[in-house]
Amino acid sequence: MSEIKVFQLAKDLGITTSDLVAVLKDLGVPVTGGSDEIDTSTADTVREMLAQDKDLVAQAKTVEIPQSLTVREFAETMGMAPADIQKRLVEMGILASVNQQIGADVAAKVAEKWGYTVKVTATQKAREVKPAKLQAQPKSKHPSKMVPRPPVITVMGHVDHGKTTLLDAIRRTNVTEQEFGGITQHIGAYQVEWKGKKITFLDTPGHAAFTAMRARGASVTDIAVLVVAADDAVMPQTVEAIDHARAAEVPIIVAINKIDKDDANVERTMQQLSEHNLMAEEWGGDTITIKMSAKKGEGIDELLEMILLVAEMADLHAEASASKVSGSVIEAKVDRGRGPVATVLIQRGTLKIGTPVVAGEAFGKVKAMFDDKGERITKAGPATPVELVGLSTTPQAGDKLESAKDEREARAIAEKRALESRDERMAASTKITLEDLYKQIQDGVIRKLKVVLKADVQGSEEVVRHSLIGIEHEEVKVEIIHSSVGNINESDILLASASGAIVIGFNVKVDAQTIKMAEANHVEIRTYNVIYELTKEVRAAMSGLLEPTIEEEKLGEAEVRATFKIPSIGFIAGCMVTAGRVVRNEQVRVKRDGKIIHEGKLDALKHLKDEAREMAQGFECGIHSSGFSDYQEGDIIECYTLKKIARAI
Ligand code: GDP
Repeated sequence: MSEIKVFQLAKDLGITTSDLVAVLKDLGVPVTGGSDEIDTSTADTVREMLAQDKDLVAQAKTVEIPQSLTVREFAETMGMAPADIQKRLVEMGILASVNQQIGADVAAKVAEKWGYTVKVTATQKAREVKPAKLQAQPKSKHPSKMVPRPPVITVMGHVDHGKTTLLDAIRRTNVTEQEFGGITQHIGAYQVEWKGKKITFLDTPGHAAFTAMRARGASVTDIAVLVVAADDAVMPQTVEAIDHARAAEVPIIVAINKIDKDDANVERTMQQLSEHNLMAEEWGGDTITIKMSAKKGEGIDELLEMILLVAEMADLHAEASASKVSGSVIEAKVDRGRGPVATVLIQRGTLKIGTPVVAGEAFGKVKAMFDDKGERITKAGPATPVELVGLSTTPQAGDKLESAKDEREARAIAEKRALESRDERMAASTKITLEDLYKQIQDGVIRKLKVVLKADVQGSEEVVRHSLIGIEHEEVKVEIIHSSVGNINESDILLASASGAIVIGFNVKVDAQTIKMAEANHVEIRTYNVIYELTKEVRAAMSGLLEPTIEEEKLGEAEVRATFKIPSIGFIAGCMVTAGRVVRNEQVRVKRDGKIIHEGKLDALKHLKDEAREMAQGFECGIHSSGFSDYQEGDIIECYTLKKIARAI
């Protein structure tokens, strides 16, 4: 029976490969990606079905674009080659380069040719990140058991923009000053009640903790509040926070803080935010933006109101009565009197005293639980943060907590996990390298190569970003999840690790600490100095043509003292090994006055009259390398070996 590749059929039908894969899956055809083959009769069924189902086609044939975008960005949105778009533009009398901006009206005319309609989004600038969407709600086999749950919020933003002040101010709204003073320690999360509804805040502000948890597989945050000080506007960590929240697909509410300050400039802040695709509603965008002063307590009510509104739209539910309880560890420590103590955010079911649990490699029975005010409690439902006592050891932030049948089962699971290397577990879930990219594309594992990009200056950052997105491939797209100017740092590694991305650096450095962290998290870092090299390698990786990196390792050096000829071999350099060793069958390079005059293989090595395998420093020997005879006294022969290695960092 003849067969057709999925991407080919998608092309014929004028829909994207992923849309077609979704349709096929709905039909029960076991496909994973565009390179899978289906038989032609199935293809015909799909053709007929799509012809009938006009709605589906219409839906698939609508593209969302901003008011204006570059030809390349538009091509990317359409899933086409920029050249096709350019050709159509020329037909319309417009000569445009790939980086030229075109308006939505022009784009609409271009799209018409292929039967597409465009929908203009309210945002101003096209970026290569998807708009945030709310986390998919867990499905339950028993929908009737699903009950509404409070939203979980993380506060992010640049240092000193007021995150901690805001978290404190919110907490104050819910407790008396006396109580507030009595709360001596933070447990990592707290809950407030506002207009009869609960909201949970993670008490460790910033995107590093947020992404570190995500790197361990925990997605607990429903909404990110981005704090931006009006006197400072958008700063590097503001941009990082935006990208981290977007990579996690968490919606962002903007809190423009410090409006009480004389040098506060709200307009400028809003303008800069709009450049990062966070256009305030009052400017026609769809980003909820609140102006506030955390210090003076102004705007807090409105912020809480908006959080509840966004949460309501998200329709957050959890199964409170599920027999199996699960949650995520927010933080853990060893307490002198109580032993290992973990703050856990319950996500499913209700945790009770006496429940056997396992969290990461820790296990035990819940001996005692405390709420965020330090009060003893006996049970905790979804989105409630609790401090839990009774674990055998401290789990790590981001570890999943689960109830077990009994303590024996809990212990068995924990012990099994302890046996498996933690690194291995993490590697399995996140590791993507350029070297195995092709295989992963073939296996349908990835459709997007996610990249964290760092460059030395703004200009090169833009050029590299555009070159990367411009790389065309039938089945995989490059998605830049974060791109900024500066050296590669630990935050970049965290983001890449949590998102299954690779880090690409252009003309930037990586310090030892960051390299160590990347190794531990199995994140690949690649640095380049030439854009062409960079795009060439990414393109080659996508097509499975990436050459493994070969690096030379110097073995030793010899100096030529005399030359002579041996009839059966040819010209021989009589040498003294001056450093390391020279080894037969390895590579040699002959240098004269610092210049390389020959490169080849060391194919004969003599010690006196005998054949030798290698000669060490201080020994005399005869060296022969095919294809070279012109030795002179004083020439230096370097001997080195070529090693296939993991990519150079
Ligand atoms: P974080 O690093 O983002 O957690 O920032 P902090 O909450 O520690 O605040 C940094 C500084 O800004 C502190 O001195 C705060 O008192 C001050 N601050 C925070 N919010 C406001 C505000 O709304 N107005 C003014 N004037 N200062 C603020």
